Amino acid sequence: MTSHDLASRDLDGARVLVTGAAGFVGSHLCEQLIRSGASVIGLDNLSTGRRQNLCALTGERSFTFLDGDVTLPHPVHGPLDAIMHLASPAAPRDYLALPVATLRAGALGTLNMAELARQKGARLLLASTSEVYGDPLEHPQAESYLGNVNPIGPRSVYDEAKRFAEAVTAQAGRTGVRTAIARIFNTYGPRMSGADSRMVPTFIRQALAGAPLTIAGDGTQTRSLCYVDDTVEGLIRLLTCGFADPVNIGGTHEITVLELAHLIRDLCGSRSPITFVDLPADDPRRRRPDITRAARVLGWEPQVSLREGLARTLAWERRQVTAGAVA
Ligand code: NAD
Repeated sequence: MTSHDLASRDLDGARVLVTGAAGFVGSHLCEQLIRSGASVIGLDNLSTGRRQNLCALTGERSFTFLDGDVTLPHPVHGPLDAIMHLASPAAPRDYLALPVATLRAGALGTLNMAELARQKGARLLLASTSEVYGDPLEHPQAESYLGNVNPIGPRSVYDEAKRFAEAVTAQAGRTGVRTAIARIFNTYGPRMSGADSRMVPTFIRQALAGAPLTIAGDGTQTRSLCYVDDTVEGLIRLLTCGFADPVNIGGTHEITVLELAHLIRDLCGSRSPITFVDLPADDPRRRRPDITRAARVLGWEPQVSLREGLARTLAWERRQVTAGAVA
């Protein structure tokens, strides 16, 4: 099908390119797009993602995997209705280990995807991040807040790459490409790699192993977590609604990192001690999205409670441990 305008939620028959398809969010997104009737081309260079994240799609005729780098020009044959651009290292440990690759994915990768969207007449959705708000001076963060990012701190390779990516997307939008910008806040769920240092899988794996839960700083910093199924639903609604300005996608239940560690330890039935390590540079003190716009434009708000989402994630992690497949 060509030039599917995606004006409704109907993705049936649409052809969608997902970059970063083998990653945590990307793999869940591909599955949901296919369940919605789309055919999906997943592009990924497997730098931080894993082929096994896509094992549910093995043999799926509506799915094609392209092993490739988004920073290089990629010929995608045939029509495309949408590009969902998620490719980028996203966990702090990953983007600090891959600083230049992160800058390139946000900059060159987004320029390439904007050009491809223009050529194909496809809608471009950018997976941006709450990190564009930096260590915010406004709370909660609405899309109108311009942020407080340290442009030369170690995290800036990610934060500024995403800010640049938003600028590229907005410019493409001013020149005729149909665009969308999702500012995703902390998302968690099955398939996050414990090796990537993000809080939820790290705490779960530490608790299951009876090892100390390591908290950065004193644990009074807050985060608002969103279960991956809710994030994916928000991304798909945004793709199909035709709204161009940035939209926050995130959970609104704010919790301190210390409370989260206790909750996970309790859910795991673990007696692990809690220990404290140095806070990384420019770690945000508070994070909570204002999702008024998402509710108004997309009719979206998270449906999965933190306790329920953590229980699902824990069940998945336990299966991984049993299968000896912990990454
Ligand atoms: P992830 O690391 O699991 O997935 C990213 C994927 O992109 C990986 O599969 C990786 O191999 C791929 N990739 C990286 N550079 C690439 C390149 N140059 N070419 C092709 N593929 C490349 O991370 P994630 O948590 O799934 O995040 C996905 C997207 O969502 C990212 O853009 C991230 O910035 C955004 N996001 C995620 C969160 C979150 O909490 N998970 C929050 C805000 C924003």
